[in-house]
Amino acid sequence: MQNINLEDYKGVYVFAQQVDNELSGIAFELLGEAGRLAKPLNTEVTAVLLGSNVGNLVDQLAEYGADKVIVVDNPELETYRTEPYAQALTAVINEFKPEIMLVGATAIGRDLGPTVSARVATGLTADCTVLEIGDFPINPIPGREQKHNQLLMTRPAFGGNTIATIACPDHRPQMATVRAGVMQKAEPKPGAKAEVINFDAKLEKNSKYVEIQEVIKSVAETVDIMDAKILVSGGRGVGSAENFKLLEDLAEALGGEVSCSRAVTDNGWLPVDRQVGQTGKTVRPQVYFAIGISGAIQHVAGMEESDLIIAINKDEDAPIFDVADYGIVGDLNKIVPQLTAAIKAAEA
Ligand code: FAD
Repeated sequence: MQNINLEDYKGVYVFAQQVDNELSGIAFELLGEAGRLAKPLNTEVTAVLLGSNVGNLVDQLAEYGADKVIVVDNPELETYRTEPYAQALTAVINEFKPEIMLVGATAIGRDLGPTVSARVATGLTADCTVLEIGDFPINPIPGREQKHNQLLMTRPAFGGNTIATIACPDHRPQMATVRAGVMQKAEPKPGAKAEVINFDAKLEKNSKYVEIQEVIKSVAETVDIMDAKILVSGGRGVGSAENFKLLEDLAEALGGEVSCSRAVTDNGWLPVDRQVGQTGKTVRPQVYFAIGISGAIQHVAGMEESDLIIAINKDEDAPIFDVADYGIVGDLNKIVPQLTAAIKAAEA
């Protein structure tokens, strides 16, 4: 492995994912987080924008916190494909030498991040939920050098049964993919401008360039539970797909959406894109109803940041009550219809 000078690597970089010339929500979340990480390092935030005719997105990135935007604009980057995107991001890293490179843990980012980290011979921590700047090893170990200002990357491990904090002290950039919905977007600053660097990544067609024949978009599901302000979430206790009608009625009365635990998607009662939790989506609505959900650690990991949690469960010892702000002990089949009726009556 080549010897690198760690001091040459500066700045917090963010892969600004766009699809169809629209920036993905994760790009703004990563910019917010990059701004927070850049402060103790006294450095700048740079967004890397790859695509075709994407120059119109630069100002939005500036408004959400990018000091600089590196644009690789090339027709080969119109639709995501591993090889041209990996070539482009690798070239950016080799040229500009970021200290930290953050990528969203989206379908695209989970493909792109590890491919690029292998090409630039550094490590990548996947699916992070917490990022901090700190010392590594966190607690000094006699005889081992403790390095300062390292990126400490935290993620659930072993099926969520433990939390691991990982560092990359000897290689650069320090790379992480970050779960969507976990980091906070910064408040946009209308009119903010970034320094724009147009970069020719010198893409080279090779045998790994796949050819896109057709893009077929899923039209079945348009609701994203991550955007909902009120979520009415059901678990195995709901009992059947048909019984979810009770939760749909409550959600409708409140202007919310229905989501669920993994037990529900495993049973085929609701589609996977409604699942909350470690292997589902991370949500932070204003109100989260957990109905007939026991509160397993893997579920709680996806909803504990909600502003207000209301749990309904017939078992008063269910762990969901440990994270709930309000708890109702009883049979959901009786409580949920009463709640819906009361809300409708209050609105009438
Ligand atoms: P249960 O644990 O069976 O709980 C049902 C609850 O309903 C009980 O508390 C019961 O008291 C209550 N109940 C029953 N009848 C009624 C009634 N009539 N009225 C009121 N209450 C009633 N889970 C997720 O949710 N999301 C994930 O992303 C996820 N990822 C995972 C990843 C891994 C690697 C692993 C190992 C597991 C994962 N799980 C996930 C599964 C998780 O461990 C639990 O098995 C799951 O969350 C349980 O779902 P549940 O609470 O709906 O069901």
